Amino acid sequence: MNIAIDGPAGAGKSTIAKMVARELGFIYVDTGAMYRAIAVYLTEHGVSPENEKIVADSISDITVEIRYENDIQMLYLNGENVTGKLRTEEVGNMASKASALPCVREKLLSLQRNLAETNDVVMDGRDIGTNILPNAKLKIYLTASIAVRAKRRYDELVGKGEIGADLAKIEKDIALRDKQDMERKIAPLRMARDAVLVDSSLMGIDEVAETIIRLAKERR
Ligand code: C5P
Repeated sequence: MNIAIDGPAGAGKSTIAKMVARELGFIYVDTGAMYRAIAVYLTEHGVSPENEKIVADSISDITVEIRYENDIQMLYLNGENVTGKLRTEEVGNMASKASALPCVREKLLSLQRNLAETNDVVMDGRDIGTNILPNAKLKIYLTASIAVRAKRRYDELVGKGEIGADLAKIEKDIALRDKQDMERKIAPLRMARDAVLVDSSLMGIDEVAETIIRLAKERR
């Protein structure tokens, strides 16, 4: 059984998807991390996402692999564990630009589909319900207002000790990322016709997770 969770940046997809996967005994697949791994590669090699031909040439031979270590998803880029490098704003913004390129999406398509074919998965991303797993048993579109998403990210950064976190800038970055992800030509972020809309603006994490777990159990 596959569960697809799509939605914009900062909606809480990964937190919720992990909780749902744990409860159901499924594997959690974070597809954003795969785009982020490619972004790390492009950044470290000084490749601009503006020129698709150059990006296509530079990533044609790289390997992106997922391994689970103590149930935690690890991202390997050319055999190196890059998981610790993925979660910065800079990498997220680069991932958003690179993910609009067909050569980048093509590179990750079979990796994502193979994982879902061979495991029960909760997979989160932007185009899982619309494109990667059109037959997923349950599709969720998880969203929240920009203000709420920005405040959550801000609190997370402050919690990690980042004293300089700037709420207005975070809000601006999120709005830009939404625009890029929703307006790109290939596999844009959009709610699948058969997805269930969950707006977490006024819901707690547990409430959202319980809602999705209940829906999953009903469809099992
Ligand atoms: O979810 P996360 O913030 O880690 O994703 C980083 C970027 O990767 C997103 O902004 C989006 O552009 C891209 N992405 C995508 N399709 C997915 C998952 C992520 O285009 N399935």
